Amino acid sequence: MKFSQRAEKLKLSSTIKIADMVRELEKSGKKIIRLETGEPHLPTPKVAKLAVQEALNQDFTHYSHSRGIYELREILCQTYNKKFGTNFDPDKNILITPGGKQALFYAIFSVIEPGDEVIIFNPAWMSYEEIVKIAGGVPVFVESEREKDFELSFDRMKKKITKKTRAIILNSPCNPTGKIIKRAVLKQINQVCLQKNTLLISDEIYDQLIFKGYNHYSVLSVNPELKNCVLVNGFSKTYAMTGWRLGYVISPPELIDVMLKFQQSTITCPTTFTQFGAVEVLKTGSDFNEQALKIYQENRDILLNEFNKMKQFKMIEPEGGLYAFVDISQASADSYNFSLDLLKRCQVSVVPGAVFGQNGEGYIRICLAADKKDILEFIKRFKQVYC
Ligand code: PLP
Repeated sequence: MKFSQRAEKLKLSSTIKIADMVRELEKSGKKIIRLETGEPHLPTPKVAKLAVQEALNQDFTHYSHSRGIYELREILCQTYNKKFGTNFDPDKNILITPGGKQALFYAIFSVIEPGDEVIIFNPAWMSYEEIVKIAGGVPVFVESEREKDFELSFDRMKKKITKKTRAIILNSPCNPTGKIIKRAVLKQINQVCLQKNTLLISDEIYDQLIFKGYNHYSVLSVNPELKNCVLVNGFSKTYAMTGWRLGYVISPPELIDVMLKFQQSTITCPTTFTQFGAVEVLKTGSDFNEQALKIYQENRDILLNEFNKMKQFKMIEPEGGLYAFVDISQASADSYNFSLDLLKRCQVSVVPGAVFGQNGEGYIRICLAADKKDILEFIKRFKQVYC
């Protein structure tokens, strides 16, 4: 069979090889400490589960409004309006999607013609590149400044803008680096997008996971009307709801209406009953968010303290998000080999930094969402083998 050029350009996730090895080792009875995951380890808050049971009992099992149930759109708009002084309308400015990933698909497909360029900072979550390629676009990478712990450089980015640039993707806090974009840089990037009529896609999926001493700047802080901009967010990371597949996108009505066409022609609407769980978690789930963040903060602090004592390794101070990004380049030039070695010798799985782009080579990504005892055991084994 002949496959499409788009299909041929796509890559299988490089993490699969590691995941397959983890499975093999687990099958042979080995207990692996799994720090490669990109999701909270805690169960979803009970209030969300109860709300879904109730929704099922009440037979909310048919299609919902294609924009998502009104109650969810309403509470999300209220939350943003209260926080940012905005005036988002549940009927116009928001679309509930099956996950933030799908929202990104819609946003990119809405503006990209084949051959159009999309700017992505590097390292970055690997799906951006793949989504752009599926849309027929060309990913253009801007290297974040390694020497400044992967800060985003506006000047580097500006040099990559061409007549073909149609969108710029920002992710703050960043997966994998844990860095938060500086407000001044966000402002500059937003200004350029407005000048060049380029779509700014602001992926804020980790916006509720901010560590002590840091502030997160939403794109709304520099562009409250979201002119030329889409804000992507979801429930996966904040509320341990990765399997629920619920996200959303906020944008001016003109763009929401285009994204709605993609939604109607692909999945019709997000799953109906799960949306009731999301409403409930927004009403009463702030305790969960606090407790989860406390665990991630503690794990982050333990890891930072331990890596700071090691000569050969350096951990970037995570400002937000779910991950620690650790420089292993003095021990190995190949993050993939290092991760395999770590798996074999310590029975700990992590993600090689190269998965997130060339500029992530020499690093490994460690998930902070884990039991403290696993983090302590990881450190113990790591020091025994590598220090
Ligand atoms: N954006 C980033 C940066 C992510 O890391 C992820 C998931 O790992 C997503 C978006 C998508 O999350 P979901 O589709 O579960 O909402």
